[in-house]
Amino acid sequence: MNQTSPYRTYRPAPFTPEERGQVEILFGGLHWRAERLIKAVFENLGHRARILPTATREDLLAGRELADVGQCCPTSFTTGNLANFLRAEASRIGAEETARRYVYVTAGSCGACRFGQYHQSYELALRNVGLEAFRLFLVAQDRMDQGALAGGGLKVDMPLTLGILWAILCADALQSLEYQVRPYEVVPGETDRVVAACVDHLEQAFRNRPQRDGKWGSLAWHLGTGYFVEALREVYRRFEAIEVDRLRVRPVVKITGEFYLQTVEGEPNHNMHRWLEAEGAEVYPAAIAVWLDYWMRFYVQGFEDEVGVDRTARAKIAAVRALQRVFGWTYDRLRAALGGIPHALPDQYELRRLAAPYYHHRLSGGEGDMLVGKALWAHLNRRAHMICELSPYACMPNTMSIGAMAGVLGKHPDLLYAPLEIKGDAEVHALSRCQMILTEAKKRAQREYEEALERTGLTTERARALLEAHPEMRRATYRVPHAGAAGTAANLVLHLAARGRA
Ligand code: SF4
Repeated sequence: MNQTSPYRTYRPAPFTPEERGQVEILFGGLHWRAERLIKAVFENLGHRARILPTATREDLLAGRELADVGQCCPTSFTTGNLANFLRAEASRIGAEETARRYVYVTAGSCGACRFGQYHQSYELALRNVGLEAFRLFLVAQDRMDQGALAGGGLKVDMPLTLGILWAILCADALQSLEYQVRPYEVVPGETDRVVAACVDHLEQAFRNRPQRDGKWGSLAWHLGTGYFVEALREVYRRFEAIEVDRLRVRPVVKITGEFYLQTVEGEPNHNMHRWLEAEGAEVYPAAIAVWLDYWMRFYVQGFEDEVGVDRTARAKIAAVRALQRVFGWTYDRLRAALGGIPHALPDQYELRRLAAPYYHHRLSGGEGDMLVGKALWAHLNRRAHMICELSPYACMPNTMSIGAMAGVLGKHPDLLYAPLEIKGDAEVHALSRCQMILTEAKKRAQREYEEALERTGLTTERARALLEAHPEMRRATYRVPHAGAAGTAANLVLHLAARGRA
């Protein structure tokens, strides 16, 4: 008779404090700057850590083969990425030693989409490659102090969580600055060289982060310290050496989409960031901090539903909104250390208001209503000429938001929107679709620039002469204020004219 056994949730073997010196913590899935700083946070707390290589197309195929073929493509990429790394290690040092030498740590959740089941894909893939003894640990994304994971080798406490949070904020701010500089650099490759040195510098700062005892001591120190601001000021000083020509007319392309695909830089999204830059665009990257802010807004929304039922609901709303303000203030402080150039976080309640006619804010999964909200926000506030939405193959929330965007485009036909289905094996199709919209965005950026010249009575030659007279404006660290245009060149012309009048 066939025997069936009940489903048992995955339980990793313990990772003990005694193993710390020998075991490397594997992690990945973000952009390289954030990963390097997070690695330094682990090392600061006495761990050994290793960043998994950025996923490749081979990883995608391995993920499909080893886990569920119908899963969304970020799950396939990340599952295959882990499995291929471990397979290579197992063939080098043996399966037993691989399971002894590494553990994998990733964020998990319950939730409406695949994100709630990532660990099951990992588990299935590990079984399929004969590595069922390998230990993977899920960290809840919504709790800052979760105590020790099984065995006590890794404590998810405030020093770790706050370190990772500040690492993400610093990496976001740096990334935003970098993308506003590279398209305008006068010496090709200079921005990349400076960014590499800056990440080394920040990594060192996070590795040497002073330790503070206790939950509240650690929180108070992170909020009050000038340590990270000082580290970013050094980044600012290094950027100061980069000469830029911001009169080059570039369309600004706002990246939106599913969290993994919009964050990672590499094959999983067809190297979209670099490809857009090579095509002559300025990329407006998707900050990880926006998603963290959204996550807090989601709690507020849950409490809003309880108003009138739970007497403490209003107090809870006030508490989370205060937390959001502290979060925004912290990010602004780091932005200020970089001359205020990194993009500010959009107001979450403004995003909700904009998305409301098309996408209900309580629909969870992926980025929820943010994809619609961010597209409208960037378009209506003239922050980008075009939206490039990176949509994973087989992603339920993204499919819904693309459907909702049909309604948005009906009301805002002038919004340039490129939804790209990313499935790893249709690169030419995705890029050519993007190129069509980008061609229109380029024309729009050029038109906007010419209108700015006309309005101000300047010519390109006169604008260049004004820049010659103000060498500080040719530095990467000069902040061109937003004067109502989406493009940097148009804003610079408007700014030059305003300066001339002042
Ligand atoms: S948001 Fe989409 S792509 Fe991301 S985990 Fe959920 S289903 Fe997968």
